[in-house]
Amino acid sequence: MVADLSPATAWSNWVGNQAFTPRFAAAPRDEKEVAALVHDASERGYGVRVAGARHSFTPIVETDGLLLDLSRLRGVVATDPERKRATAMAGTLIRDFYEPLWSAGLALKNQGDIDTQQIAGAVATATHGSGIRNTCFSGVVRGARLVTATGEIRDIDESEPDLLRAAQVSIGMLGVMTRLELEVTDTYRLSEQVDLWPWEAVLERWDELVHAHRHFGFFWLPTEESAALYNLSSHDQTMADKCYVKLYDDAPPDRPDSAAVGRRTDRCYRIYPMLYDPNFHELEYFVPLALGRDALSAMRDLMLRSLPDSIFPLEVRTVGPDDAYLSPNYKTATTVISVSGQPGTDYWGYLRSVDALLSQFSARVHWGKLHFLSAERLHTLYPEAHRFIDLRRELDPAGMFLNDHLRELFA
Ligand SMILES: Cc1cc2nc3c(=O)[nH]c(=O)nc-3n(C[C@H](O)[C@H](O)[C@H](O)COP(=O)(O)OP(=O)(O)OC[C@H]3O[C@@H](n4cnc5c(N)ncnc54)[C@H](O)[C@@H]3O)c2cc1C
Repeated sequence: MVADLSPATAWSNWVGNQAFTPRFAAAPRDEKEVAALVHDASERGYGVRVAGARHSFTPIVETDGLLLDLSRLRGVVATDPERKRATAMAGTLIRDFYEPLWSAGLALKNQGDIDTQQIAGAVATATHGSGIRNTCFSGVVRGARLVTATGEIRDIDESEPDLLRAAQVSIGMLGVMTRLELEVTDTYRLSEQVDLWPWEAVLERWDELVHAHRHFGFFWLPTEESAALYNLSSHDQTMADKCYVKLYDDAPPDRPDSAAVGRRTDRCYRIYPMLYDPNFHELEYFVPLALGRDALSAMRDLMLRSLPDSIFPLEVRTVGPDDAYLSPNYKTATTVISVSGQPGTDYWGYLRSVDALLSQFSARVHWGKLHFLSAERLHTLYPEAHRFIDLRRELDPAGMFLNDHLRELFA
């Protein structure tokens, strides 16, 4: 038996819409301790889940067994500028990559709106940024170290493509990730253009915006008060029914760094992160890129009809295709559509309408954000879900890494 298994205190996520008290909690110091803890839990018949940085809105951390905190397994442990690879411990925050990579002439290929997630947590749910020439974080995973249900430490790499594709998006169901190898890129700087555009202008120029820029995304603001909910500001007094458009391109070498609002040029990692207050929870669906424009028009109509439940901005991004079995971008580039609401308010009717609408566009879901996916829809939308489930059963026949929410979809 492992000595320092302590009774746990209550756990809750970033915004407080998920909370539970596990039976035990532990914060192992190294991979051997992780293996011993998992082995012990398996012998005693406890479930095990890992908490990352608490930024998921769905019940994907919850357990009534042992909750592991891997924040002591933190740091970039290797960089390889020739092969464009970086290896980091599972509890490394996205922002922890910046300086070690930059000093090796490297950078993350892409990233999302915040940089406070742990890398294993971000990879587990296919966390993404924007731009069809880049994949989500899971798409750049080239290797992983996994503690499986027996407590065995197993290295997965490109020589086992089936297992790697399952591990790239696994929502913690294959075991405990202790380190990850990522494909990275040479350092780059970004130039930003942020402007308010009419909705029609964005849709008219959709193809150009998606294809001609490294990274394009926008927030559509259904009402005047919408922008402030996501800390978006503009000198323009009227923001209702406008799009807060963000365009990013590689900065030419002769362009100096600049901090000008809406026109910054800087190291990539200083440009990406935004500031969010914990005042929302979010649903985010992915529709095939070719259906994006039609889905967006339908979403705007729905949101205008759904006011005042729909005052949070509609966020729109794109993501490139990858091969991970549970990825929302599996074999297809996607238009990513996100809506939010205020915790404590009953806006479930609106969310269900969004789900029903986007289902007509073959929408897949963000595993870390609110969704209404059923097992039946999972198998229709994710053609390799059965392969993921077969591998999950092989690695964890007793289902010790499942919880009630995941069991409904993946048992
Ligand atoms: C303000 C905010 C902004 C966001 N912006 C974006 C965005 O721009 N793009 C986007 O795609 N998503 C975004 N998200 C969602 C977020 O990136 C994902 O929910 C992500 O999974 C959270 O990572 P985390 O480290 O907090 O992990 P958690 O939420 O704590 O955990 C996520 C999952 O990973 C599992 N897990 C964590 N570590 C391990 C491990 N070592 N081994 C096995 N399983 C593990 C957990 O059990 C859980 O199932 C945002 C969320 C918030 C709150």
